[in-house]
Amino acid sequence: MTQLSRSVRGLTVLVTGAGSGMGRATAEVFAAEGAHVAVTDYDLASAQETAKLVAAAGGSAEVWRLDVSDKAEIDRVVGEVAARFGGIDIVVNNAGIANFLKIDDPDYDAVWDRTVAVNLTAHQRVIRAALPHLRRSASPRIINIASVEGMGATAQLSPYSSMKAGVIGLTRSLAVELGPEGITVNCICPGPIMTGMTADIEDADKVVFAKRRTALRRYGYPEEVAHVTLSLALPASSYVTGIAIPVDGGHMARNA
Ligand code: NAP
Repeated sequence: MTQLSRSVRGLTVLVTGAGSGMGRATAEVFAAEGAHVAVTDYDLASAQETAKLVAAAGGSAEVWRLDVSDKAEIDRVVGEVAARFGGIDIVVNNAGIANFLKIDDPDYDAVWDRTVAVNLTAHQRVIRAALPHLRRSASPRIINIASVEGMGATAQLSPYSSMKAGVIGLTRSLAVELGPEGITVNCICPGPIMTGMTADIEDADKVVFAKRRTALRRYGYPEEVAHVTLSLALPASSYVTGIAIPVDGGHMARNA
């Protein structure tokens, strides 16, 4: 046995969209494990609320407002995070939006453009901004949050589904490109999770969907995704790269 570390203690993680749902849970889980967490979100107040929760649990986090559709803001915030913590070891590209609309909806182009910007372009931009810092890390990790919608599909969600498939492609391609440098690049494909994104779905509809379509017969919780993110981020997870892991209660596995 070598001494591969099973801890993120002392490492720095930057999480986008950390003011809610899975991003917030990711910040809480990493902070509980002793990481320095850069909590970033479009909405400063919700990011600050995440930092409060982290502090109440004895962890430490710092907050930045970051709209991931703004390249200049990405470059500035990534630079500030690296300066504040002395580097960046782990990037979690989590921020995302989802809008249901038909292919012939008059707003289709506008929704498509916004979804490209937030759900796909932002991932490569955050990665490119963080790359010089990741290259200096002893265990550099990139974790992108895709979706089971990148593997299967739901009607009227085509911009979202297209971008999530794109995130899986970006993950694989960068895993191959950055592999020689020891940088791992993976993505997680959550299934139905109880977050802000699914808050508008009626509880009764959630129950029906989960019973019909998942092996575990229930929605998942943000923390259940965050633990898989943590696992991919460990220094000891050094031989896992280029994969898309469903964290979906067996949604993709279930035919009937
Ligand atoms: P959520 O609770 O809505 O969290 C998403 C976060 O991203 C929010 O804090 C949101 O901020 C933030 N955000 C939106 N646009 C942003 C921007 N331009 N810049 C920075 N932050 C922005 O939803 P979630 O379910 O935790 O979503 C996290 C990730 O999981 C997303 O990539 C989503 O596609 C993916 N996912 C979710 C599910 C699910 O069932 N929930 C399933 C598969 C994949 P505001 O609240 O201020 O807008």
